[in-house]
Amino acid sequence: MAIDARIETDIAGEATQPYVRRGACPTLARPMQTGDGLLARLRPQGGSLTVRQCAHIARAAARCGNGLLEITARGSLQIRGLRPETVEPFAEAVDAAGIIVSPNPVIELPPLHGEAFGDVADAAAMELLLRDRLAEYLQSPGLAPKLSTIVDGGGLFDLADVTADIRLLAISAEEWLVAIAGDGASARLVATGSADAAIEAVGDVLKLLHSIGWQKRCRDIGPERLLSVFRDMQTISHHPRAGQTPSVGVHPIKDGTAVIGLKPRFGQIQATDLLAFLSFLESHNVKDIRPAPDRCLFITGLSEESAVTVRQSAKRFGLSADGDDPSSRIATCSGAGACASSFYDTKALAETLIDLCPEVLDGSLDLHLSGCAKGCAHPRRALTISGAANAYHLVLDGLASDAPDAQIAGSDINSAIERLSRLIKTERQAGESARACLDRVGTATITRALRQE
Ligand code: SF4
Repeated sequence: MAIDARIETDIAGEATQPYVRRGACPTLARPMQTGDGLLARLRPQGGSLTVRQCAHIARAAARCGNGLLEITARGSLQIRGLRPETVEPFAEAVDAAGIIVSPNPVIELPPLHGEAFGDVADAAAMELLLRDRLAEYLQSPGLAPKLSTIVDGGGLFDLADVTADIRLLAISAEEWLVAIAGDGASARLVATGSADAAIEAVGDVLKLLHSIGWQKRCRDIGPERLLSVFRDMQTISHHPRAGQTPSVGVHPIKDGTAVIGLKPRFGQIQATDLLAFLSFLESHNVKDIRPAPDRCLFITGLSEESAVTVRQSAKRFGLSADGDDPSSRIATCSGAGACASSFYDTKALAETLIDLCPEVLDGSLDLHLSGCAKGCAHPRRALTISGAANAYHLVLDGLASDAPDAQIAGSDINSAIERLSRLIKTERQAGESARACLDRVGTATITRALRQE
């Protein structure tokens, strides 16, 4: 169904309930309510966008949302701050740019898929075949909204680190493996065979899911049920996979081109920065742009010289080509300027934290800077600083909404960060991580140190 028709159906059908149900993924047609407005998520079919299409999305995000774009941990594009009256214009702008949005359930391809990246079979074509032949099962409301499928064309780069309900891996142009419930190493192999046989096996998995209950996941399928359908599964030997997970930085490709992986600093990029970056890319002969897992963005088709130039210039557009960039260890929400509920500028405080307290950024701690107690950016436990009316609330290991371990007056926040830095420097034992150090010294000592003048 065309996106317009889908939106019409969804908006008409859910006029009084335009937002996603709990557990479902926010789509273009059904954005999710968050503290800074409606959030829509999209995944372009085939996983890639042209520079022009990417610019269309950025302009529409500025016009219809609050101008902030994100790439999710699983590689979808997220547009923040939409309003009920701008949801449809935004979707129309995406459609007008010729972007076909993959429907749910999500089917993921390694971001660097295709012949140039060593694929032995066409993963994008396999996705379309699955969607076409198994539409009845894939669109059933009984399917778990977060059911995930990975189709891997067997090339140089894979998604072996990412868990999925269903995995298809091409071993050759004619043979596919089907595995369920796990990552590249732990998923259980259930079938092997031609593309047709693999699709049939995926259909059997979907039927099994429907037979065991409402919105079940592949991990819920018991071994006996599985064996009753896949009688030969125990005879399939494991196929060793030598792929790599693509990461930030420059990757030379065999065909003489290069790819660069970048990350938006603090996981978000302003539409204006993205547009400036895309305009900078115009002179670099880019093939396409691919949002990717772990909040990455890959730019393909570059010459090696252009890739180096892009790497050197990325920072001025709010992007990082450095795998060790400390900004990737801090989750920040939109913050003041983008969200009316925010009590402070989350990104400015994150930059201060990087300058004044590099000790906490050794990778052992999740850090979360939240403009208010809603905690939109990181709904999990972390060392959290959340904004309140007259103070910052510090939660040493919890959610933005948890009772604070310490309250820090607005004017005292930089000094408090310096005191935290001093405490870790002084107390840390040889080889000890920041997390282990803070756990060992305990809440009372930390809060006392934060209060000291
Ligand atoms: S300030 Fe941040 S956490 Fe609070 S509602 Fe806005 S985006 Fe969400």
